[in-house]
Amino acid sequence: MPKYKTLSRKISIIGAGNVGATFAYALLLSGLCSEIVLIDQNTQKAEGEVMDLNHAVPLAHPTRIRVGDHKDCADSSISVVTAGTAQRPDENRLDLAKRNAAIFRQIIPMIVKNNPDGILLITTNPVDILSHFSLQLSGLPDNKVIGSGTILDTARFRYLLGQHFNLDARSVHAFIIGEHGDSEVPVWSLANVAGMPIEEYCRTNGCECNEVTRNKIYLQTRDAAYEIIAKKGATYYAIASGLVRIVESILRDQHTILSVSTHINGLYEIQDTFLSLPCVINRNGIDRIIQLPLAPSEAAALQKSAKALGGIMRGLG
Ligand code: NAD
Repeated sequence: MPKYKTLSRKISIIGAGNVGATFAYALLLSGLCSEIVLIDQNTQKAEGEVMDLNHAVPLAHPTRIRVGDHKDCADSSISVVTAGTAQRPDENRLDLAKRNAAIFRQIIPMIVKNNPDGILLITTNPVDILSHFSLQLSGLPDNKVIGSGTILDTARFRYLLGQHFNLDARSVHAFIIGEHGDSEVPVWSLANVAGMPIEEYCRTNGCECNEVTRNKIYLQTRDAAYEIIAKKGATYYAIASGLVRIVESILRDQHTILSVSTHINGLYEIQDTFLSLPCVINRNGIDRIIQLPLAPSEAAALQKSAKALGGIMRGLG
Protein backbone atom coordinates (compact mmCIF):
# COMPACT_ATOMS: atom_id res chain seq x y z
CA MET A 1 0.00 0.00 0.00
CA PRO A 2 1.42 3.44 -0.88
CA LYS A 3 1.89 5.69 2.14
CA TYR A 4 0.19 8.66 0.43
CA LYS A 5 -2.65 9.27 -1.96
CA THR A 6 -1.08 10.12 -5.34
CA LEU A 7 -1.35 13.82 -6.21
CA SER A 8 -3.40 14.54 -9.31
CA ARG A 9 -1.51 15.89 -12.31
CA LYS A 10 -4.22 18.46 -12.92
CA ILE A 11 -3.53 22.16 -12.41
CA SER A 12 -6.18 24.90 -12.59
CA ILE A 13 -5.21 28.44 -13.47
CA ILE A 14 -7.62 31.22 -12.55
CA GLY A 15 -6.80 34.28 -14.65
CA ALA A 16 -5.63 33.79 -18.23
CA GLY A 17 -3.90 37.14 -18.64
CA ASN A 18 -0.17 37.76 -19.10
CA VAL A 19 0.89 35.79 -16.03
CA GLY A 20 -1.72 33.01 -16.27
CA ALA A 21 -1.18 32.32 -19.97
CA THR A 22 2.62 32.46 -19.70
CA PHE A 23 2.52 30.13 -16.71
CA ALA A 24 0.28 27.71 -18.65
CA TYR A 25 2.82 27.70 -21.49
CA ALA A 26 5.79 27.18 -19.17
CA LEU A 27 3.87 24.39 -17.41
CA LEU A 28 3.09 22.70 -20.73
CA LEU A 29 6.76 22.80 -21.72
CA SER A 30 7.77 21.40 -18.32
CA GLY A 31 5.77 18.20 -18.92
CA LEU A 32 4.84 18.17 -15.23
CA CYS A 33 1.09 17.75 -15.58
CA SER A 34 -1.49 15.87 -17.62
CA GLU A 35 -4.29 18.45 -17.49
CA ILE A 36 -4.39 22.25 -17.40
CA VAL A 37 -7.68 24.15 -16.95
CA LEU A 38 -7.76 27.86 -17.77
CA ILE A 39 -10.49 29.92 -16.09
CA ASP A 40 -11.10 33.60 -16.82
CA GLN A 41 -14.11 35.89 -16.69
CA ASN A 42 -13.10 36.87 -20.21
CA THR A 43 -14.02 33.50 -21.74
CA GLN A 44 -12.97 34.53 -25.22
CA LYS A 45 -9.45 35.33 -24.00
CA ALA A 46 -9.24 31.96 -22.23
CA GLU A 47 -10.49 30.19 -25.37
CA GLY A 48 -7.89 31.92 -27.54
CA GLU A 49 -5.08 31.01 -25.13
CA VAL A 50 -6.26 27.39 -24.94
CA MET A 51 -6.36 27.05 -28.75
CA ASP A 52 -2.87 28.49 -29.08
CA LEU A 53 -1.51 26.29 -26.26
CA ASN A 54 -3.14 23.15 -27.68
CA HIS A 55 -1.35 23.72 -30.97
CA ALA A 56 1.94 23.44 -29.08
CA VAL A 57 0.96 20.08 -27.51
CA PRO A 58 2.12 17.90 -30.47
CA LEU A 59 5.50 19.63 -30.19
CA ALA A 60 5.72 19.42 -26.39
CA HIS A 61 4.07 16.89 -24.04
CA PRO A 62 0.72 15.11 -24.14
CA THR A 63 -1.42 17.42 -21.99
CA ARG A 64 -5.15 18.04 -21.91
CA ILE A 65 -5.67 21.82 -21.96
CA ARG A 66 -9.15 23.28 -21.78
CA VAL A 67 -11.25 26.25 -20.77
CA GLY A 68 -13.25 25.74 -17.60
CA ASP A 69 -15.21 27.42 -14.88
CA HIS A 70 -14.74 27.15 -11.13
CA LYS A 71 -16.38 23.72 -10.99
CA ASP A 72 -13.51 22.46 -13.10
CA CYS A 73 -11.05 23.17 -10.27
CA ALA A 74 -12.32 19.89 -8.77
CA ASP A 75 -9.52 17.36 -8.22
CA SER A 76 -6.74 19.80 -9.12
CA SER A 77 -3.71 19.30 -6.93
CA ILE A 78 -3.08 23.06 -7.14
CA SER A 79 -5.23 26.04 -8.11
CA VAL A 80 -3.01 28.90 -9.22
CA VAL A 81 -4.65 32.31 -8.91
CA THR A 82 -3.40 35.08 -11.20
CA ALA A 83 -6.76 36.83 -11.68
CA GLY A 84 -6.93 40.52 -10.93
CA THR A 85 -5.69 43.84 -12.05
CA ALA A 86 -2.32 45.52 -11.81
CA GLN A 87 -1.63 48.75 -9.93
CA ARG A 88 -2.74 51.94 -11.69
CA PRO A 89 -0.23 54.82 -11.80
CA ASP A 90 -2.41 56.95 -9.47
CA GLU A 91 -3.17 54.11 -7.06
CA ASN A 92 -1.56 53.06 -3.76
CA ARG A 93 -1.09 49.45 -2.55
CA LEU A 94 -4.16 49.61 -0.32
CA ASP A 95 -6.45 50.70 -3.19
CA LEU A 96 -5.07 47.89 -5.36
CA ALA A 97 -5.55 45.43 -2.49
CA LYS A 98 -9.18 46.53 -2.14
CA ARG A 99 -9.92 46.10 -5.84
CA ASN A 100 -8.32 42.66 -6.04
CA ALA A 101 -9.79 41.58 -2.68
CA ALA A 102 -13.25 42.17 -4.18
CA ILE A 103 -12.35 39.69 -6.95
CA PHE A 104 -10.97 37.21 -4.39
CA ARG A 105 -14.19 37.39 -2.34
CA GLN A 106 -15.95 35.95 -5.40
CA ILE A 107 -13.44 33.39 -6.61
CA ILE A 108 -11.69 31.86 -3.56
CA PRO A 109 -14.86 30.41 -1.96
CA MET A 110 -15.85 28.89 -5.34
CA ILE A 111 -12.41 27.33 -5.85
CA VAL A 112 -12.38 25.82 -2.36
CA LYS A 113 -15.97 24.62 -2.56
CA ASN A 114 -15.12 22.65 -5.68
CA ASN A 115 -11.63 21.61 -4.61
CA PRO A 116 -11.48 21.40 -0.81
CA ASP A 117 -8.35 19.24 -0.75
CA GLY A 118 -6.21 21.22 -3.21
CA ILE A 119 -3.43 23.71 -2.59
CA LEU A 120 -3.96 27.42 -3.36
CA LEU A 121 -1.03 29.19 -4.98
CA ILE A 122 -1.58 32.96 -5.15
CA THR A 123 0.24 35.40 -7.45
CA THR A 124 -2.10 38.37 -7.78
CA ASN A 125 -0.71 41.55 -6.19
CA PRO A 126 -0.29 42.65 -3.51
CA VAL A 127 0.53 38.96 -3.18
CA ASP A 128 1.23 38.81 0.57
CA ILE A 129 -2.05 40.56 1.38
CA LEU A 130 -4.11 38.48 -1.03
CA SER A 131 -2.53 35.24 0.17
CA HIS A 132 -3.46 36.17 3.75
CA PHE A 133 -6.96 37.08 2.61
CA SER A 134 -7.20 33.73 0.75
CA LEU A 135 -6.27 31.89 3.94
CA GLN A 136 -9.09 33.66 5.77
CA LEU A 137 -11.63 33.18 2.97
CA SER A 138 -10.77 29.54 2.32
CA GLY A 139 -10.50 28.12 5.83
CA LEU A 140 -7.64 25.95 4.51
CA PRO A 141 -4.73 25.09 6.80
CA ASP A 142 -1.63 27.32 6.64
CA ASN A 143 0.42 24.80 4.65
CA LYS A 144 -2.09 24.81 1.79
CA VAL A 145 -2.11 28.53 1.04
CA ILE A 146 1.09 29.69 -0.62
CA GLY A 147 1.92 33.10 -2.03
CA SER A 148 4.54 33.26 -4.77
CA GLY A 149 6.02 35.97 -2.54
CA THR A 150 9.68 36.74 -3.13
CA ILE A 151 10.46 33.73 -5.32
CA LEU A 152 10.69 36.29 -8.13
CA ASP A 153 12.72 38.86 -6.16
CA THR A 154 15.13 36.14 -5.01
CA ALA A 155 15.60 35.05 -8.65
CA ARG A 156 16.27 38.66 -9.69
CA PHE A 157 18.73 39.07 -6.80
CA ARG A 158 20.64 35.88 -7.69
CA TYR A 159 20.67 36.84 -11.37
CA LEU A 160 22.22 40.23 -10.57
CA LEU A 161 24.74 38.71 -8.15
CA GLY A 162 25.63 36.12 -10.79
CA GLN A 163 26.19 38.92 -13.31
CA HIS A 164 28.32 40.86 -10.82
CA PHE A 165 30.54 37.86 -9.99
CA ASN A 166 30.48 36.42 -13.53
CA LEU A 167 28.95 33.20 -12.18
CA ASP A 168 26.01 30.97 -13.02
CA ALA A 169 23.20 32.50 -10.92
CA ARG A 170 22.39 28.99 -9.68
CA SER A 171 25.79 28.94 -7.96
CA VAL A 172 24.94 32.05 -5.95
CA HIS A 173 22.85 31.36 -2.84
CA ALA A 174 20.99 34.33 -1.45
CA PHE A 175 17.45 35.24 -0.43
CA ILE A 176 15.13 38.19 -0.49
CA ILE A 177 12.64 37.90 2.37
CA GLY A 178 9.67 39.90 3.68
CA GLU A 179 7.16 41.68 1.49
CA HIS A 180 7.10 41.14 -2.27
CA GLY A 181 7.44 44.87 -2.79
CA ASP A 182 9.03 48.04 -1.52
CA SER A 183 9.97 46.83 1.98
CA GLU A 184 11.60 43.55 0.88
CA VAL A 185 14.80 42.58 2.68
CA PRO A 186 18.06 41.25 1.17
CA VAL A 187 19.74 38.74 3.49
CA TRP A 188 23.36 39.74 2.85
CA SER A 189 24.61 38.15 6.08
CA LEU A 190 23.80 34.64 4.78
CA ALA A 191 24.48 35.12 1.05
CA ASN A 192 27.17 32.72 -0.11
CA VAL A 193 29.15 31.38 -3.05
CA ALA A 194 30.63 27.87 -2.89
CA GLY A 195 29.82 27.77 0.84
CA MET A 196 31.70 31.02 1.53
CA PRO A 197 30.08 34.19 2.82
CA ILE A 198 30.25 36.95 0.18
CA GLU A 199 33.06 38.83 2.05
CA GLU A 200 35.23 35.72 2.17
CA TYR A 201 34.51 34.83 -1.45
CA CYS A 202 35.55 38.35 -2.48
CA ARG A 203 38.69 38.30 -0.30
CA THR A 204 39.87 34.89 -1.53
CA ASN A 205 38.86 35.35 -5.15
CA GLY A 206 39.93 38.91 -5.89
CA CYS A 207 36.58 40.65 -6.34
CA GLU A 208 34.46 43.17 -4.44
CA CYS A 209 30.90 43.57 -3.23
CA ASN A 210 31.10 46.72 -1.14
CA GLU A 211 28.27 48.78 0.33
CA VAL A 212 27.77 50.82 -2.86
CA THR A 213 27.60 47.69 -5.04
CA ARG A 214 25.26 45.97 -2.59
CA ASN A 215 22.91 48.89 -2.51
CA LYS A 216 22.89 49.10 -6.32
CA ILE A 217 22.10 45.37 -6.63
CA TYR A 218 19.35 45.63 -4.00
CA LEU A 219 17.70 48.63 -5.69
CA GLN A 220 17.88 46.94 -9.11
CA THR A 221 16.22 43.88 -7.57
CA ARG A 222 13.52 45.81 -5.72
CA ASP A 223 12.66 48.17 -8.57
CA ALA A 224 12.94 45.70 -11.47
CA ALA A 225 9.16 45.38 -11.89
CA TYR A 226 8.72 49.17 -12.21
CA GLU A 227 11.39 49.27 -14.92
CA ILE A 228 9.98 46.30 -16.88
CA ILE A 229 6.41 47.64 -16.63
CA ALA A 230 7.59 51.05 -17.86
CA LYS A 231 9.28 49.38 -20.85
CA LYS A 232 6.79 46.64 -21.84
CA GLY A 233 3.68 47.01 -19.70
CA ALA A 234 3.83 43.87 -17.54
CA THR A 235 6.15 41.19 -16.16
CA TYR A 236 5.42 37.51 -16.72
CA TYR A 237 8.28 35.23 -17.86
CA ALA A 238 10.18 35.12 -14.58
CA ILE A 239 7.09 34.83 -12.36
CA ALA A 240 5.74 32.07 -14.62
CA SER A 241 9.04 30.20 -14.19
CA GLY A 242 8.84 30.70 -10.43
CA LEU A 243 5.32 29.24 -10.38
CA VAL A 244 6.49 26.20 -12.35
CA ARG A 245 9.32 25.72 -9.84
CA ILE A 246 6.83 25.76 -6.92
CA VAL A 247 4.45 23.39 -8.73
CA GLU A 248 7.32 21.02 -9.52
CA SER A 249 8.40 20.93 -5.87
CA ILE A 250 4.84 20.04 -4.83
CA LEU A 251 4.04 17.47 -7.53
CA ARG A 252 7.41 15.75 -7.21
CA ASP A 253 7.53 16.06 -3.42
CA GLN A 254 10.99 17.57 -3.72
CA HIS A 255 11.42 19.26 -0.32
CA THR A 256 12.95 22.26 -2.11
CA ILE A 257 13.76 25.43 -0.19
CA LEU A 258 12.11 28.38 -1.93
CA SER A 259 11.28 31.87 -0.67
CA VAL A 260 7.49 32.01 -0.73
CA SER A 261 4.88 33.92 1.21
CA THR A 262 3.49 32.04 4.19
CA HIS A 263 1.58 32.66 7.40
CA ILE A 264 4.00 33.85 10.10
CA ASN A 265 2.80 33.62 13.66
CA GLY A 266 5.48 34.13 16.27
CA LEU A 267 8.73 33.91 14.28
CA TYR A 268 10.93 37.02 14.64
CA GLU A 269 8.18 38.36 16.95
CA ILE A 270 5.87 38.76 13.95
CA GLN A 271 2.22 37.85 14.49
CA ASP A 272 -0.45 36.85 11.99
CA THR A 273 1.24 38.17 8.83
CA PHE A 274 1.91 36.69 5.40
CA LEU A 275 5.43 37.37 4.16
CA SER A 276 8.25 35.44 2.53
CA LEU A 277 10.85 33.33 4.26
CA PRO A 278 12.69 30.31 2.85
CA CYS A 279 10.25 27.39 3.13
CA VAL A 280 10.51 23.67 2.46
CA ILE A 281 8.02 22.89 -0.31
CA ASN A 282 6.77 19.36 -0.81
CA ARG A 283 3.54 17.47 -1.53
CA ASN A 284 1.96 19.09 1.56
CA GLY A 285 2.57 22.56 0.17
CA ILE A 286 4.59 24.41 2.80
CA ASP A 287 6.10 21.66 4.90
CA ARG A 288 8.04 23.99 7.22
CA ILE A 289 9.68 27.39 7.46
CA ILE A 290 13.47 27.59 7.63
CA GLN A 291 14.66 29.67 10.56
CA LEU A 292 17.43 32.07 9.58
CA PRO A 293 19.98 33.49 12.06
CA LEU A 294 19.40 37.01 10.70
CA ALA A 295 21.69 39.93 11.51
CA PRO A 296 19.93 42.35 13.93
CA SER A 297 19.48 44.96 11.15
CA GLU A 298 17.90 42.31 8.89
CA ALA A 299 15.52 41.11 11.62
CA ALA A 300 14.53 44.74 12.24
CA ALA A 301 13.95 45.29 8.50
CA LEU A 302 11.81 42.13 8.39
CA GLN A 303 9.72 43.39 11.30
CA LYS A 304 9.34 46.73 9.52
CA SER A 305 8.19 44.87 6.40
CA ALA A 306 5.64 42.94 8.50
CA LYS A 307 4.40 46.22 9.96
CA ALA A 308 3.89 47.70 6.49
CA LEU A 309 1.89 44.61 5.47
CA GLY A 310 -0.10 44.69 8.71
CA GLY A 311 -1.12 48.28 7.92
CA ILE A 312 -2.51 47.28 4.50
CA MET A 313 -4.25 44.22 5.96
CA ARG A 314 -5.96 46.38 8.61
CA GLY A 315 -6.92 48.86 5.88
CA LEU A 316 -8.69 46.01 4.10
CA GLY A 317 -10.73 45.39 7.22
P1 NAD B 1 -3.77 40.68 -16.81
O1 NAD B 1 -4.64 41.86 -16.73
O2 NAD B 1 -3.03 40.38 -18.07
O3 NAD B 1 -4.62 39.36 -16.44
C1 NAD B 1 -5.51 39.29 -15.39
C2 NAD B 1 -6.65 38.38 -15.83
O4 NAD B 1 -7.52 38.19 -14.72
C3 NAD B 1 -7.50 38.97 -16.98
O5 NAD B 1 -7.49 38.06 -18.07
C4 NAD B 1 -8.87 39.13 -16.36
O6 NAD B 1 -9.94 38.88 -17.27
C5 NAD B 1 -8.83 38.07 -15.25
N1 NAD B 1 -9.84 38.28 -14.22
C6 NAD B 1 -10.18 39.41 -13.57
N2 NAD B 1 -11.17 39.17 -12.70
C7 NAD B 1 -11.46 37.85 -12.78
C8 NAD B 1 -12.39 37.00 -12.14
N3 NAD B 1 -13.26 37.48 -11.21
N4 NAD B 1 -12.41 35.69 -12.47
C9 NAD B 1 -11.58 35.21 -13.41
N5 NAD B 1 -10.66 35.97 -14.05
C10 NAD B 1 -10.62 37.28 -13.74
O7 NAD B 1 -2.75 40.81 -15.59
P2 NAD B 1 -1.36 40.02 -15.43
O8 NAD B 1 -0.27 40.82 -16.03
O9 NAD B 1 -1.57 38.60 -15.83
O10 NAD B 1 -1.18 40.13 -13.85
C11 NAD B 1 -2.09 39.44 -13.01
C12 NAD B 1 -1.74 39.74 -11.56
O11 NAD B 1 -0.48 39.16 -11.26
C13 NAD B 1 -1.64 41.22 -11.22
O12 NAD B 1 -2.18 41.45 -9.94
C14 NAD B 1 -0.14 41.47 -11.21
O13 NAD B 1 0.22 42.57 -10.42
C15 NAD B 1 0.31 40.15 -10.61
N6 NAD B 1 1.73 39.81 -10.77
C16 NAD B 1 2.33 39.28 -9.68
C17 NAD B 1 3.67 38.96 -9.73
C18 NAD B 1 4.30 38.39 -8.49
O14 NAD B 1 5.52 38.21 -8.42
N7 NAD B 1 3.51 38.11 -7.46
C19 NAD B 1 4.41 39.15 -10.90
C20 NAD B 1 3.75 39.66 -12.02
C21 NAD B 1 2.40 40.01 -11.95
